[in-house]
Amino acid sequence: MKQKYIGRFAPSPTGPLHMGSLVAAMASYLDAKAHEGLWLLRMEDLDFDRNVKGADQHIIQSLQRSGMLWDGDINWQSKRQHLYEAALQKLGDNLYPCACSRKEIADSRLRLGETASQIYPGTCRHGLAEGKAARAWRLRVPDQIYRFEDRLAGMQQQNLATEVGDFVLKRADGFWAYQLAVVVDDAAQGITHVVRGADLIDSTARQIYLQELLGLPTPAYLHVPVVTNADGEKLSKQTGALAFDQGDNDILHDALMPAASFLGLQLSTGIGSKEEFWGMATLAWKNKLDNTKK
Ligand SMILES: [Zn+2]
Repeated sequence: MKQKYIGRFAPSPTGPLHMGSLVAAMASYLDAKAHEGLWLLRMEDLDFDRNVKGADQHIIQSLQRSGMLWDGDINWQSKRQHLYEAALQKLGDNLYPCACSRKEIADSRLRLGETASQIYPGTCRHGLAEGKAARAWRLRVPDQIYRFEDRLAGMQQQNLATEVGDFVLKRADGFWAYQLAVVVDDAAQGITHVVRGADLIDSTARQIYLQELLGLPTPAYLHVPVVTNADGEKLSKQTGALAFDQGDNDILHDALMPAASFLGLQLSTGIGSKEEFWGMATLAWKNKLDNTKK
């Protein structure tokens, strides 16, 4: 009997899908198809300042035009905030209020001589200073190395205390942090396999730690390289990335074939339809995975 496989694609509706997001969507879709599994769609729309009206609909249409059809209902994180609140309550003493502003954190780093460090200096770890009000909720991290096997990149490890520091789960503006929402939703949706861009590999140890605290299962992880522009920056709306779906362009040749090529999939240039493309690309993805296994 085949093992159950549930994967997902989880875009943020901050703009249309560009080549970089297409590559991540394609990798997770192909992995689900190669495992004869389910592929779910989740809108990570918790950054209410950055959400763009109509971007979710554009994303949905672009996936449909590409022939990437999801299973079940679409999940919107903005409608699931009660679940994040419940998870936060469960974390108990692992959580503490932090009163620091960005500037205060930067200043105390300077005092400690840690100019380059992004690590929170722990100012509020043992209680708020008198007269200070809580702005955000932070999670205490252990001085411990977390390891996980990335299905593509191999063994990864990170010490949460020395490389990350206590991190925010609920921001000063009331917004939920990505780390908490993604862990809660992956578990609630029964996700067994996470396939996403390598820009998120660095956050995986934090998510495994949260899964451990909340008693949730850890899925398998695979991170694919991110697409960069000519300046070496990750493609995003901020770096001027264009939508891969212009409404009337040739999706197969303009977008799907180049994205597959970026993923290192060797496909015949004679492919004539999207149906043929997805069949061949799924086989090529299987081969790639077989060749990765030592
Ligand atoms: Zn603080």
